[in-house]
Amino acid sequence: MDREWVTRRQALGGIAAIAGGGSLLDGSSRSHRSSRRGSDDRVVDLVLHDASAWLGETRGVTHGVSVRVVDNQIAEVARGPLAGGDRIDLRGRLLLPGLISGHTHVAGGSSTRGIIETGRSYARPLELVERDLDDEELDALTAYNLAELLRSGCTTQLEMSLSLRQAKSYARVAGRLGARGWVGGMVPGIGRLFPIWFGSDDDLRAAEADTLVEIEANLAHGRSLEGDGLVRGMMTPHAADTHTPATRSAIADAAKELGTGVHTHLSQGSRETETVLRRFDRTPTQWWADAGVLDGPFLGAHFIAPDWASDPPLLRRAGAVYATCPSAGGAGGATQPYPEALAAGIAVNVGIDTHSNDMVENLKLAVLYGQARASLLAARAGGDPSPAFRAPTVVDAVRGCTTTVADALRRSDLGRIEAGATADLVAVDVSGFLTGSGAAPPEPLNHLLYASGPAVELVLVDGRVLVQDGVFVAADERQIAEDGGRVAQRLWSALAREGWFD
Ligand SMILES: [Zn+2]
Repeated sequence: MDREWVTRRQALGGIAAIAGGGSLLDGSSRSHRSSRRGSDDRVVDLVLHDASAWLGETRGVTHGVSVRVVDNQIAEVARGPLAGGDRIDLRGRLLLPGLISGHTHVAGGSSTRGIIETGRSYARPLELVERDLDDEELDALTAYNLAELLRSGCTTQLEMSLSLRQAKSYARVAGRLGARGWVGGMVPGIGRLFPIWFGSDDDLRAAEADTLVEIEANLAHGRSLEGDGLVRGMMTPHAADTHTPATRSAIADAAKELGTGVHTHLSQGSRETETVLRRFDRTPTQWWADAGVLDGPFLGAHFIAPDWASDPPLLRRAGAVYATCPSAGGAGGATQPYPEALAAGIAVNVGIDTHSNDMVENLKLAVLYGQARASLLAARAGGDPSPAFRAPTVVDAVRGCTTTVADALRRSDLGRIEAGATADLVAVDVSGFLTGSGAAPPEPLNHLLYASGPAVELVLVDGRVLVQDGVFVAADERQIAEDGGRVAQRLWSALAREGWFD
């Protein structure tokens, strides 16, 4: 072991000071929990022991696993005990690699939640976030939503902030809370989006010059994030039907320079696909592929109305990832074609989108909605189903949120529990009330289908403990909730003045 780690550990007074000192840590007490995490508060030599860990198996898990975390890395994984270190007992817990959401709009979550489910559009609340909030309020809103994501086991966000301003807020707050992310401002940003999206071809052409300016500004922000932090810049165009060939080229060039790829909404409705076919005689997937946009990492969200014959081969060849988002319309609403994409051999991730920030809940919903959709498709299809479909399993979803998306991002150090991997880890209680049966279960992955965010007990990102004993310890959770709540009240007041609740 590196002497420097030992020295730093002694200087910080052991693991209780380093990891916040919650009761999961043997022999320490909750009262030592620090409300703030500094830059040098990584665990020094931490052993997670007796876990039921998913080590990439196609079915099931390995029981009795020990994982040693040193600094920001997994130093050792054993199918049995490991000695020494500061210890966290994970008996009855399912240990997973940190969960990666392939599609988020972080500041949008709590600003639409609970007020759109009766059929209202999410557009107005999101416009007000951009129009009415100053930077401090925006950061408070971002912090509330990002803390929820982390609390529910979402260690990494592929973040399409709804504007460059919101992307800057995400980068600031993620740096403060210790999240990992690839961030871009949606182009066109939310302040310009709707007249372009729902406008004519002439409106799109008239918007082109300003969209090019937005792309340049986002590229500059992406460049500013190069370095050794956990947040990287990424180009995040809204969708093919809000871009022209010129802005598409600018996106492709910017993505090539940043080297992190492109994240967009892809065939998110039949209107998008029909518009792009009418304008260019190409599907959205073909249209992006023509300009080389699929060549780097590529994430496309929703995929509601693709061409099932021509699009999947392009995505497969490119190693692209489809982010299926069960909460895209808020709670309830339409399902997404997870079963069809699996049958087509496309890599599928589960994305948060917005409204809900509960990663475990969305992973579960993706599987359950996918199974429901597959059974309806089977009832309808008779003998010759087209497109083909396959019901998702919980392993599909876990793999999609870990190894699959990490590999697509060309980050083979993420999304797995193995020696040398980066220490992004999540432990979920699968033995207690509501998720479990009162004892460590034989097939804990199935218990994920009874779990949601509150069952997450431990979250490490880059070796830092952000959630411990089910408590968000990366910052003062109560303060984050108070500040985020004040911003939500402001938005509700503005909406009330416009007759939203009448
Ligand atoms: Zn979206």
